[in-house]
Amino acid sequence: MLRNERKHSKKRDAILETIRSTLSHPGARWVYDRLKPRIPGLSLGTVYRNINVLREEGSVVSLGVVNGEERFDGTVAPHPHFICEDCGRVLDPPGEVQAELTGALPLEIPGFTVNRSKTVFYGLCDKCRDAQR
Ligand SMILES: [Zn+2]
Ligand SMILES: [Zn+2]
Repeated sequence: MLRNERKHSKKRDAILETIRSTLSHPGARWVYDRLKPRIPGLSLGTVYRNINVLREEGSVVSLGVVNGEERFDGTVAPHPHFICEDCGRVLDPPGEVQAELTGALPLEIPGFTVNRSKTVFYGLCDKCRDAQR
């Protein structure tokens, strides 16, 4: 039992490390493809289960489903996102833009106090925009 737990948490550590290693906001399949050569016994189901545990413990955040796949972020501090509606890229806007968008919290508005916000911008990324020209 103990050995089993250690094995699971080793996999979980590798999954967390993989999610944190990229700014691409990956889905479970991307993580699986990355880790499979290193961890031959790994299954996609194991990756899903472990990401769920990581999400529950607050180590990663879910960004919801983009182009049919749930995407995750290893940067858990709240920040806005940009999602390309064509290719499904998920990007973090540059720091100065982020500060401008999130700097005012907590915000007092008559009737309620705003503690956090979740901002997602949709449009075309530079690659898709250039491809359409
Ligand atoms: Zn795109
Ligand atoms: Zn992000």
